[in-house]
Amino acid sequence: MRKVVFTMTRYEINETDKRLIEIGLEVLKQNFDDGIYNHTVGCALLCKNGNIYKGVNCDGIHGSCAEYITMGIAISAGEREFDTIVAVHDKHLNYVIPPCGNCRQMLFEYCPDIKVIVNDENGKLIKISARDLLPFAWEPVVCE
Ligand SMILES: [Zn+2]
Repeated sequence: MRKVVFTMTRYEINETDKRLIEIGLEVLKQNFDDGIYNHTVGCALLCKNGNIYKGVNCDGIHGSCAEYITMGIAISAGEREFDTIVAVHDKHLNYVIPPCGNCRQMLFEYCPDIKVIVNDENGKLIKISARDLLPFAWEPVVCE
């Protein structure tokens, strides 16, 4: 049996990453709603060209996470190269929320090397690639 070894590269947080967290908190504050629409998560996304997009989650019978909404906004604006993403809420540790499994899969499919800001096991902010956040990820396969 072949042994599978996973590596998980951790990246240090920089000033731009801290700014992304602030931007995510700002867009959440501007759009917060825990009544009808349940906008309770903000997100900020840095593209490789330096452009930054922001969004909040949208609730509904098939609601979408803030990461999904923000990626959709960026893609609709023509962006295709992504650098860093973070989801936030003002009451979470360091304000940062790790992406759910569905978002990890989406990020892996669009941009496996995007850096995701998360808290590590000691509560320290770090960045990890979407690829490392989802071992054994599903990938599209073309059958012949
Ligand atoms: Zn999600």
